[in-house]
Amino acid sequence: MAIQTPTSPTAPTQPWSTEFERALAENERYVSQFDRSSLPLPPGRKLAVLACMDARLTVEDVLGLRTGDAHIIRNAGGLATDDAIRSLVISQQLLGTEEVIVIEHTGCGMLTFEDDAVRRDIAARTGQDVDLPLHAFGNLDENLRTQVERIREHPWIKDVPVHGLIYEVESGRLRKVA
Ligand code: ZN
Repeated sequence: MAIQTPTSPTAPTQPWSTEFERALAENERYVSQFDRSSLPLPPGRKLAVLACMDARLTVEDVLGLRTGDAHIIRNAGGLATDDAIRSLVISQQLLGTEEVIVIEHTGCGMLTFEDDAVRRDIAARTGQDVDLPLHAFGNLDENLRTQVERIREHPWIKDVPVHGLIYEVESGRLRKVA
């Protein structure tokens, strides 16, 4: 059964004063219909997805996944960072996933800034040097291919299919890139 979409937190009829209160109230509702207590730990579809954290991309809906089906690793950009690789290694070595899908998307926020400018802003505000790579990028397809290659060639990643898809926020469609 589809879980009902919560009403907008900005609706005037709502009793919650904070987003946190709303979230806890939604959890009460979730618990009242919870029926997933016996799912096995390993993902049922042996799939790991690495995707951008963009709020418009609901990976489960886009790929037709249900709770228990897949590992979904998300970060800004859907990048194969060291920590994303760490999660993929655990996913494969300990929990048996055998396929990887990387999803980036049109209109990504990572296309809209440059690392140096943001670092300068943070430094100006905090008075501290910012030693943090943000990994902004300028070419979506090229960046996605780079992430897929990094995963395919990483020595700790198993020799499994690794796909690269662009999600079009305008249409909901997936476009195969790698
Ligand atoms: Zn994004």
